[in-house]
Amino acid sequence: MKVFKFGGASVNNVERIKNLRTILLEDNFENKLIVISAMGKTTNALEKVTDAFFNENPNEALQLFDQIKKQHLSTAKYLLVTNYLACEEQLQHFFTEVEWLLHDKPQRDFDYYYDQIVCVGELLSTSIISHYLNETFIKNTWIDVRDVIRTDANFRDATIDWNFTKQQISTFVVPLFNINNLVITQGYIGATEENQCTTLGREGSDYTAAVFANMLEAKSLTIWKDVPAVMNADPKQFSDAETISELNYTEVIEMAYYGAQVIHPKTIKPLQNKNIPLFVKCFTDSSLLGTCIHNKFIKKLPPIIVLKENQVMMELSSKDFSFVEEKPIATLFHLFESLKIKPNLMQNGAISIICILDNHTSKIEKLATEAASIFDVTITKNLTLLTIRHYTNEIFEKLTKGKKILLLQKTTETVQSLIS
Ligand code: ASP
Ligand code: MG
Repeated sequence: MKVFKFGGASVNNVERIKNLRTILLEDNFENKLIVISAMGKTTNALEKVTDAFFNENPNEALQLFDQIKKQHLSTAKYLLVTNYLACEEQLQHFFTEVEWLLHDKPQRDFDYYYDQIVCVGELLSTSIISHYLNETFIKNTWIDVRDVIRTDANFRDATIDWNFTKQQISTFVVPLFNINNLVITQGYIGATEENQCTTLGREGSDYTAAVFANMLEAKSLTIWKDVPAVMNADPKQFSDAETISELNYTEVIEMAYYGAQVIHPKTIKPLQNKNIPLFVKCFTDSSLLGTCIHNKFIKKLPPIIVLKENQVMMELSSKDFSFVEEKPIATLFHLFESLKIKPNLMQNGAISIICILDNHTSKIEKLATEAASIFDVTITKNLTLLTIRHYTNEIFEKLTKGKKILLLQKTTETVQSLIS
């Protein structure tokens, strides 16, 4: 048993869906559970539908949703002949689920509606792809993951009920492999006990795939991406970025923590717990080796560089020259928790704390207003946070040359610097 995961970019047009079929043909002997994201930028488009609905612009919401419907129907039309009608029927069913809701007025909180609307992206993409593969002789079984992945009702960041989900997988999913050796399902979404849709956090499909790999005791998980392998830096920012052929779980967790857009941070734990290797492969050229992530000690890694742009430095100083001790720090962390803010870096001094944050304007404003009751608050915008793991002085100097360094934090392994 293997688990494959295809992200939004790998299924965002007809050619790429055909390419997915080729990838499956190259490896069509073993049982496989296939987790797929919403096509391309569908999740972002569905977020706009949710915003319009929640701001009580139902016509705009319906119009925006109409575009999403058209895109999916036209993709289905290009790909399907004999299975088109069956697929259309299923798509219409999902469209209706959303449209019913869009015709109502919002009564509950935003996050609830977000999940009810956004979850349709994965249902649409997997329905089209499953019908297409069946029509082209790659027989597979489509399942609605909401019948399998049970979560709490913490909308937009739901937590999986591990025991219930595991039970569902063994009684409901495992026997399906007696019918077809491929089972296709959605990433990122789940459902509560009351059958309300939930989502697991943006880019959460990697995590879904890892949960299935864990519970199916898969021999490996392969994540198909639009890069040749995991790289030591973002190739869009650094033209000399190199591929890394082998990594271990710890390193990947660290990379994700510092903001490398490699793999969803929650993905590693379910794999590490069962010692399941993770392969990151390139979907446009499956002959490339990609990256293998496992439990081994890796001798030598290149410097791994993460650049986070558009950072905000918030300096919180005590109002009366008193030390910043447990109490104000605890208040600050409670604020982070209630506003769902995760600082990218913090540094404490005698009478001040510095936090480096993503520039999420409304959250920053709320934080600054609330913190102003105990601190003097100063904000500096438009900064860049540079993190280098396995750094050398040479590379640090090269990357900060001519820049103003506002803050520096070093361990033996990692250096972080805020630059402008
Ligand atoms: N479609 C979701 C998103 O764009 C989940 C995923 O792609 O992993 O965040
Ligand atoms: Mg994605």
